[in-house]
Amino acid sequence: RGMPRPRMAVRSTTLSVVPILTNLQKNCATPLPVLHHVADAMAADMRAGLAVDGGSNLKMILSFVNSLPTGNEKGLFYALDLGGTNFRVLRVQLGGKDKRVIDTEFEQVSIPPELMFGTSDELFDFIASGLARFVQKESGKFCLPPGMKREVGFTFSFPVKQTSIDSGILIKWTKGFAVSGTAGKNVVACLNEAMGRQGLDMRVSALVNDTVGTLAGARYWDDDAMVAVILGTGTNACYVEQMDAIPKLRGENSASRRMIINTEWGAFSNGLPLTEFDKDMDAASINPGEQIFEKTISGMYLGEIVRRVLLKMAEAGALFGESVPEKLSAPFVLRTPDLCAMQQDTSDNLEAVGSILCDVVGVNSNLTARKVVLQVCDTIVKRGGRLAGAGIVGILQKMEQESKGLIFGRRTVVAMDGGLYEHYPQYRRYLQDAVTELLGFEISKNVIIEHSKDGSGIGAALLAAANSKYAHEF
Ligand code: BGC
Ligand code: MG
Repeated sequence: RGMPRPRMAVRSTTLSVVPILTNLQKNCATPLPVLHHVADAMAADMRAGLAVDGGSNLKMILSFVNSLPTGNEKGLFYALDLGGTNFRVLRVQLGGKDKRVIDTEFEQVSIPPELMFGTSDELFDFIASGLARFVQKESGKFCLPPGMKREVGFTFSFPVKQTSIDSGILIKWTKGFAVSGTAGKNVVACLNEAMGRQGLDMRVSALVNDTVGTLAGARYWDDDAMVAVILGTGTNACYVEQMDAIPKLRGENSASRRMIINTEWGAFSNGLPLTEFDKDMDAASINPGEQIFEKTISGMYLGEIVRRVLLKMAEAGALFGESVPEKLSAPFVLRTPDLCAMQQDTSDNLEAVGSILCDVVGVNSNLTARKVVLQVCDTIVKRGGRLAGAGIVGILQKMEQESKGLIFGRRTVVAMDGGLYEHYPQYRRYLQDAVTELLGFEISKNVIIEHSKDGSGIGAALLAAANSKYAHEF
């Protein structure tokens, strides 16, 4: 401790790590032509997925949401939100046009990791008991007229093939979930059965993806909200599509002019700049070959990609001295919030970077190593943010083609949510820069990318209200 490191070691570290870093930067580069290619491919894959089921990597799931909140919604509604990291229960009192949200209350718990690998019943019992506890605490505060049930909007943030607004079958788990016995089942039936086991009598009025909830929540306050994007543990986007641009509908629901489409863009993979580290991480994942866009741009994976790069630099380039720190070999020890915390360190000697590296991966680092670590973080975060931006432009291009002038020619709001977007300023800036570069300054002035915090909870409650059996009785 306190001893100056031998100069030779420092110099050899720098030299042997440089080619690995240069190569990484080259393979992760996202110059404008690459971004254009990704945006165009996104739009083309969307079109193919709308043509027929299975027509593309993008599932382009029908949400059965044909109208978005207007502000007139009234009554007492609940929302359940099962996402990547947290589980949330929410109650909202909607007061209509002038009063809007009279009151809202929520509870949030993190999902016990063992539930992610358990059985379907265990997971749904956990959800239903959380809901039951929440409702019990009301102790008569909200009395419902006889014959009326509490209604809940269920935000379920995984790919679900919707069969109606209030039913849908889980296609597969993502984001590290490997719960047995849910894939292929109607998740609303799973929830209803679990509520039954809790003696809880509520009605699920709407089953929505978190992107759809976010778009509904954003539209409640802003009529120009047309797209919603989640950048959190996982990633996804939804948008408002014209009915006649959805050939696979075959005339169903033809009374409406529009429907929200859940793209499930996490499965996109066309033309992405990928590295050996991405490929190795994918191969080692519980869903190899799947969710490639998600694995390149979302919060669950950015830290892990950086860890893999640092491990190679430690092994092949003595980044942290002669020995390879043991902890660095543990998958997922380095998390995206750690990258973010390191990137906020602007001090001369990168003290915070050093202490995070020490706490998280158990290494002592010199200034040279810390600088290299920051460059690796920046490379991976920059690629992620810029590709996310290209994805958004792909969606906007598709919408513009369908509606001729109604997207780029007027104010259009893209509602964003998720921890990665909310908490990582560099990521956010890279995303916005890419959108501006792709659209050009004039058009990008019309495209407002804004944070819609926790919109998916209120959004699900609003969609429950829109599909209520009882709302008129309030
Ligand atoms: C899921 C999507 C979800 C997204 C964001 C992805 O892994 O497939 O359904 O919207 O994560 O939570
Ligand atoms: Mg969420």
